This record gives sequence, C-alpha cells and structure tokens, in this order.
Amino acid sequence: MQYQSFLIKYAEIGVKGKNRSDFEVKLVDQIKIALRRCEGKFAVSRKSGRMFVDAEGEYDYGEVTGALQRVFGIAGVCPMKVLPVVPYPELSAAVGDFFGEEYPERSVSFKVVARRLDKSYEMNSQELDAALGGDLLQRYPSLRVDVHRPEVTVHVEIRDRIYVYTRVLPGQGGLPVGSAGKAMLLLSGGIDSPVAGWMMGKRGLKLDAVYFNAPPYTSERALQKVIDIAKIVARYTGTIVLHNINFTEIQLYIYEKCPHDELTIIMRRYMMRLAEKIAARTDCGALITGESLGQVASQTLRSLECTNAVCRLPVFRPLIGFDKEEIVAISKKIDSYETSILPYEDCCTIFVAKHPVTKPISDVIERHEHQLDEKIDEMMERALGTDEIIIVTESGHRILKAREDDLKPGY
Ligand code: ATP
Ligand code: MG
Repeated sequence: MQYQSFLIKYAEIGVKGKNRSDFEVKLVDQIKIALRRCEGKFAVSRKSGRMFVDAEGEYDYGEVTGALQRVFGIAGVCPMKVLPVVPYPELSAAVGDFFGEEYPERSVSFKVVARRLDKSYEMNSQELDAALGGDLLQRYPSLRVDVHRPEVTVHVEIRDRIYVYTRVLPGQGGLPVGSAGKAMLLLSGGIDSPVAGWMMGKRGLKLDAVYFNAPPYTSERALQKVIDIAKIVARYTGTIVLHNINFTEIQLYIYEKCPHDELTIIMRRYMMRLAEKIAARTDCGALITGESLGQVASQTLRSLECTNAVCRLPVFRPLIGFDKEEIVAISKKIDSYETSILPYEDCCTIFVAKHPVTKPISDVIERHEHQLDEKIDEMMERALGTDEIIIVTESGHRILKAREDDLKPGY
C-alpha cells in the first residue's frame, strides 16, 4: 500500500491560541528538515487547521514515518489514501478497497467517522457514516460495528480532495524544536545528560552542547562517544553544535589547591561558569544538566544550591525528580542507552574523592575557591580558547576550528 499523504496531528500546538500560527510555521520547518534526509519528494502544507505531508512519487514508508514520528510537536501521523472528489459509489468502492488492504483479516470491530468540509458534496457527514458503514459490512460480513469502542475507526474527510485513513501512528508530542528558544546542554557521555537534552528539546528548545574533556586523562574515544550520543539526540532535535572544551588544566589546578572532598563540587561550579560564558556567546537562554536529586553526592539539595549559585541563567534539570530506572527507560526508548554505557572514562570519574562532601556550604566552597585566584581567570580564558566546535547531525559530524566568528549566533 503506497499512502499518498500523511495527516499530521499536532500535540499541544492545538491549544496555543493566537501564537498557534508561529508554532505551526516552526513545525512545518521541522518536518521539512526531518524529510530532507528521506528519499523522495514531499510537500508540507497547512489547510484550515490541518497539516499535511504529501508524497510526490515513490518513497520508503518506514523511513518517512520514522522521521515524522521523531519530530517534536507531532502527536500522531496518519497515513492516508487520497482521492479526488468522486461521487458516492466510487468513494464507497475506494473505501472498501482501502479497508481490505489495511485489515486483510477483516474480523475487527469498526465505525466510520466522516467529515464533510465541502458542503456541496452530495451527502452530509451522518449520511456518509451510515452509508459507508453499511457498505463495508455488506462487503466484509466478518466485520462488526461498534460505535463506542471500535478497534478500527475509518476516517473519511471530504475537502478539496477526499482523505481516508484508519491508523494513527504515535508521535513524540511536545513542541517543535526552536519554538522555545535555544539552550546549552552540558553533555557528558553518561546516561543522564542525553535524556535531559531530549526532554528539553521536546519542550521546544533548540540545543547546543558543551563537553568538558580532560586529555590525556580521557581518550579520543571518550570524545567520540560524546559525539555519538549527540548524534542520537540530533535525530530528534536536529543539528547540535557541540563545544569541546579542554578542562584538564583547570581540573589539575583544583586538584592541587582545593580540599579533595570538595573537588567534584568545585569542578562542577567551573563547568557551569564556563558553560554560561559559552551560552552567552551563542545566544543560549538557559543551561541544561542531567542532574537528579540525591543521585550522587554532587546532586544533593545543598550541592545543587552550590552549583546553582554560580549561574545567572536558568538551569533546567528535567530529570530532577526521576529515579535512575525511569531515566534508563527513556534512554532505551530514545536509543542512547547502549552508547551511554560504553565504558570510556569521563573527566569526573578520574579526579574523584573517595568521600565527597554531601552537604557543602557555599561560603566554605567560595573560600576554598579563593585559593585558585592567582591563575583561574587566565585558565578559564585559555579553556574557552580551546573551544573546538563540532557540528553534529544524525548522520555525521564535522569539526570547525574555534574562531570568534564561529561562536556568533546564526552560523
Ligand atoms: P551523566 O549520566 O549525564 O554523565 P551523572 O549521573 O554522571 O550524569 P554527574 O557526573 O554528577 O552526573 O554530572 C551531572 C551533570 O553535569 C551531567 O548530567 C551533565 O549535565 C554535567 N556534566 C558532568 N560531567 C560533564 C562533562 N564532562 N562535560 C559536560 N557536562 C558534564
Ligand atoms: Mg557523568
């Protein structure tokens, strides 16, 4: 069965009132971007509160529905048969053929829901429901009508053309990427941060990402793993600009100057400070982390207060109330889990104290950070200067050398 068209059911966009049009425009953009990677030619259009994707010629059904089902903002994708506006007998025959192909077993319960938007059509919606239902029963006697809880609902919409569909493939829901602005994801290569990025992408944020790398303590393969994870997230969010920052010098300096039980928390504060500086240069309005309350010592209430204290931007922690199991379930669903659990070292795992503080006090941490005063500013500048910009898409990545120009919004 080659469906000629897909009806796109929106998620929350449907209730957006007067901003609705802006959201629809963003959704159309995202659908076009998603379809660019698919074989075939497609036209995306909006007509009286409905969105359609028309396939012009051959395409790969699995590839196209898969791409559409990953676009945030879409609640459902309905593969449709499209007819010109034909007289009733022809319509009924076409609906019967379509049903027969869709449900060869034909022992299901069903109902017909017709909508006549073209008021000049020869029968109204109720007449169409009754007539089409009757004709289907006659043609396939093993069918049963169930108007309350049918297994199959046959939708027939009479517009400038006639659309027939019975299936709604589930979408991701949420809001189209870019409709809520852009944010900087602290992406570490673990299980949590890609899930956090995916969740905020689903709320309409476009993502940039930053990875703090500690060569030679971390290997090239650890960076490659982060790129691979970004690629998976990019399947949903579109291109991610990944900033690879060399954090080694800062980490060693903290190790040398500060109490070891406070290493992680101080390191996290410097990550947040650096992330915020890059965010400012790239027009990101928030930071995103994969923190979850109480998961580790650096994610207790007091620790979060300490890491938060160094940022002015809002910090989104969408996993804050999630158990590890719930996070793992999402990472499996979005397909990042297998890559996340590859055993390459992370900079946080290299310089960790055996007994990190769980109740750090901001004032005390700040006092200890003063021991870094002599060199930390120049080190932060140097770290920002190491920024290697990696453009990550779902199908690959390319490395841009860091230049001031590259960091300006809109490149
Ligand atoms: P994840 O599974 O995302 O690595 P985690 O449970 O290991 O998280 P932490 O190591 O405490 O937790 O890190 C908390 C958050 O800080 C991460 O979710 C991520 O957003 C950020 N983060 C940690 N390490 C890095 C890093 N090397 N580069 C960028 N961000 C990092
Ligand atoms: Mg981690």
